[in-house]
Amino acid sequence: AAVDNSPAIVVGSGYGGAVAALRLGQAGIRTLVLEMGRLWNTTGSDGKVFCSTSAPDQRSMWFRTRTEAPLATFLWLDLVNKDIGAYPGVLDRVHYDNMSVYVGRGVGGGSLVNGGMAVTPLKSYFAEQFPTVDADEMYGTYFPRARSMLGVNTVDPAWFESTEWYQFTRTSRKAAANAGLKTTFVPNVYDFGYMQREAAGTATKSALAGEVIYGNNYGKRSLDKTYLAAALGTGNVTIHTLEKVRSVTRASDGSYVLTADRIDTTGKVVETKQYSCTYLFLGGGSLGTTELLVRARETGTLPALNAGVGAGWGTNGNTMLGRANHIWDTVGANQATMPVMGIDDWANTANPVFAEIAPLPMGFEHWISLYLAITKNPERASFSYDSSSGAVKLGWTAAQSAVSVGMAKKLFDRLNAANATIYRYDLFGSTSKVFADDFTYHPLGGCVLGKATDDYGRVKGYSRLYITDGSLVPGSIGVNPFVTITALAERTMARVLAEDTAP
Ligand code: FAD
Repeated sequence: AAVDNSPAIVVGSGYGGAVAALRLGQAGIRTLVLEMGRLWNTTGSDGKVFCSTSAPDQRSMWFRTRTEAPLATFLWLDLVNKDIGAYPGVLDRVHYDNMSVYVGRGVGGGSLVNGGMAVTPLKSYFAEQFPTVDADEMYGTYFPRARSMLGVNTVDPAWFESTEWYQFTRTSRKAAANAGLKTTFVPNVYDFGYMQREAAGTATKSALAGEVIYGNNYGKRSLDKTYLAAALGTGNVTIHTLEKVRSVTRASDGSYVLTADRIDTTGKVVETKQYSCTYLFLGGGSLGTTELLVRARETGTLPALNAGVGAGWGTNGNTMLGRANHIWDTVGANQATMPVMGIDDWANTANPVFAEIAPLPMGFEHWISLYLAITKNPERASFSYDSSSGAVKLGWTAAQSAVSVGMAKKLFDRLNAANATIYRYDLFGSTSKVFADDFTYHPLGGCVLGKATDDYGRVKGYSRLYITDGSLVPGSIGVNPFVTITALAERTMARVLAEDTAP
């Protein structure tokens, strides 16, 4: 097959890939982005790009015949999941032993399906996780650059206090206050001006229509509207969709050679393509990038990759749980899907937890307070290559999840005691499961900065090979991760364009 040559290739179009594409394009470097998901810009028969959460169809999930929503049940009834047709839908749930990982698929990666919470970590914790990175420079230059490019904004506090759509958050705030716990507003990339118009009835509802994990039709500043739109605007960036990079090797002239499978919407491989490039940027996310490199090392296509590739993976301590409120503490039938507040107990060194107050929009009053707790779980796992099946496996154990659960439980036992409330037992499938300990939204690590790469994301053992995504983050960042991933990618690109690509 003919080899298609580009000066630069970017694998994946999530946060890390989008930043790389924009900065390469602006530097005048012709760049090809390869994305395994589809471009989400055409409407279905319902006139919408994304399907609704309450009646999901094939657009919801990546090649599934039934949806796999994080909340499996309600009152033990399997009301939440629906049969669908197999299709390259926008949300994937990747199953490993004892842990499954939610990721976005499509042009924009996780930005298409996530809650939009745009949180900058505590500087001291960032410095603890990234001891070799200049934190002053990050907080002075790259975090502000990332926030401004991502379109981060905050909910108007007066509107927040008065709207029915955030009653659920105010009720959780009150319960936290009763336990002496601090809550804090968190910024978001969803356009809050748009949300207020939704509430006023002057704009088509999206966050106020339950839309989030299967995509937002309006209001969300996903990467296809920010970084990637700007990247295409440089005239130097091209995106190929439904192309999954399967392997990477290096030719004798030092260029990288990629093999990619192009699929159709049934998932059938319709073409296997060969690409080559001088500069290769990996933005396939913690799972995508790590899998590609573990396989490359173990099959000998990039044999000089070091032992840091595949190591240092964590869940950001994710645990989800629900509490049952008293009958007078209503959460409202109407709930916005964009979280705007968290319980911030990270400073509690005995048990650091940051718990996002999550929505559960069901269209009726259910008295449930839902939380996504981010705990300071120190457990890490490694990926390994199974040569008989060719699969890359994750060695995460149930005992490692139990550490997150133990930390979340300490905080919420305290909160329940102060309010004389209890956990909900009916939300996560099997009877009496209180903590969802078997999935994460925040896969981090696998190719940790300073270990698998140098301190700027240059892969050790190879020149002109870079990582710009969540695989650099050492398993935990204490808050929702995409602002950190974006800011680190900005830092890498500034350095690489200044030092590595000069003629
Ligand atoms: P990704 O965004 O995952 O992008 C990787 C891209 O590469 C994907 O598009 C993928 O399809 C593609 N790809 C992978 N492998 C290949 C390959 N071999 N060939 C071609 N393409 C490939 N974070 C927050 O900060 N705030 C939130 O509110 C928040 N909420 C979330 C809610 C949900 C439901 C989920 C799933 C995640 C949430 N996150 C949130 C996490 C956040 O979305 C991720 O941390 C972020 O998207 C990771 O960015 P990334 O650049 O590392 O990779």
